[in-house]
Amino acid sequence: MTLPAIEHADVVVIGAGVVGLAVARSLAFAGHEVIVLEAADAIGTGTSSRNSEVIHAGIYYPQDSLKARLCVEGSRRLFDYCTSHNVGHRRCGKLIVATDEAQMAALEGLRVKAHANGAEEVHWIAAAEARAMEPALACVGALHSPMTGIIDSHGLMLAYQGEAEAKGAMIAFNAPVTGGVVEEGGILLDVGGDNPMRLKCKIVVNCAGLFAPMLARRIAGLSPDSVPANYYCKGNYFTLAGRSPFTRLIYPAPEVAGLGVHLTLDMAGQAKFGPDVEWLDVTDGAPLDYVVNPRRGDGFYAAIRTYWPGLPDGALQPGYSGIRPKVQSPTDKTGADFIVQGPADHGVAGLVNLYGIESPGLTSSLALADLVAAKLD
Ligand SMILES: Cc1cc2nc3c(=O)[nH]c(=O)nc-3n(C[C@H](O)[C@H](O)[C@H](O)COP(=O)(O)OP(=O)(O)OC[C@H]3O[C@@H](n4cnc5c(N)ncnc54)[C@H](O)[C@@H]3O)c2cc1C
Repeated sequence: MTLPAIEHADVVVIGAGVVGLAVARSLAFAGHEVIVLEAADAIGTGTSSRNSEVIHAGIYYPQDSLKARLCVEGSRRLFDYCTSHNVGHRRCGKLIVATDEAQMAALEGLRVKAHANGAEEVHWIAAAEARAMEPALACVGALHSPMTGIIDSHGLMLAYQGEAEAKGAMIAFNAPVTGGVVEEGGILLDVGGDNPMRLKCKIVVNCAGLFAPMLARRIAGLSPDSVPANYYCKGNYFTLAGRSPFTRLIYPAPEVAGLGVHLTLDMAGQAKFGPDVEWLDVTDGAPLDYVVNPRRGDGFYAAIRTYWPGLPDGALQPGYSGIRPKVQSPTDKTGADFIVQGPADHGVAGLVNLYGIESPGLTSSLALADLVAAKLD
């Protein structure tokens, strides 16, 4: 078999999710010639279109973690960006509720953490005030986060794409990167799909989401020791038939691998509940199952009725699911940070790998793109 001829590229971004597009935009603005290689036939078909579409305020993450820093900075920038670029969004606010006295201490811990992270607007409200804001709610106390919002994530990706392309970036669809090798003066990527090619790139940014660790392990010359283990943690959503009784987002006290079965709203006002936590046992490269098992709804009713006792029987329908790109195992309760590794971290010039970009990756997308640029400087 003869190999395709080698083409040359300045910057290649692998993956056209919200993070890859933000990175492409940022590097195109910095004057680079950018090519985005996307395995699918459209932008944002992965985790970026399978999430809660919440602009988080930065409440949950350990102080000084990348998640805390990039979420707080990213959310402020994202609200400004949405306003200046006409991306659909709404600063609807959210209530994190304690449904028994035992949860009050956990919420106070969250408030302290939020303030340490720079989300100082998060404050306590009494149960009566919470019920005045949301009459259908049951709680013994709540934290109010007025700076939390919702966003049209596809509109955001289109805006990033449009700006990147206006600055000369190109997106190649049906172009899966199958591997690569570190060479003198750059990285040689093997690209499959419709038009197989070999691309010699000065800079490669691996934004392949769920598949970023698997892809990194296929780059010869990058130490496999630098690549974290990867795990898949599915989150299922159920939609509410009929009108939402809430105008704000309602969150219970958080769980270990997720934020608890919460209520979010989309831009059309439709309410959905989720995501729950379902660890998947998948071999790397095997197809991922996004089907929502209707039987998981049984557990949703009980969880939701702790804060919305009026949830009618039969009101929930299976919605959609997303899969969290985890870098920590189901038994590791410590909570992992985003991992953004540049040349100073792994020793390969011109390569940045992003791992574990779960929530709040959408909120942090502009700030993550800046971090990538800084790692390449
Ligand atoms: C259930 C759930 C709820 C969430 N809720 C929120 C939220 O409310 N707010 C928030 O801020 N964040 C949220 N997140 C996190 C957020 O969705 C992600 O951080 C973000 O979408 C990640 O974007 P990405 O571009 O890194 O990955 P992706 O969107 O997965 O994009 C990766 C892209 O790479 C492509 N690709 C993969 N392998 C290759 C290859 N070999 N060659 C070429 N292309 C390849 C894929 O096709 C895909 O298009 C949530 C995540 C989940 C799972």
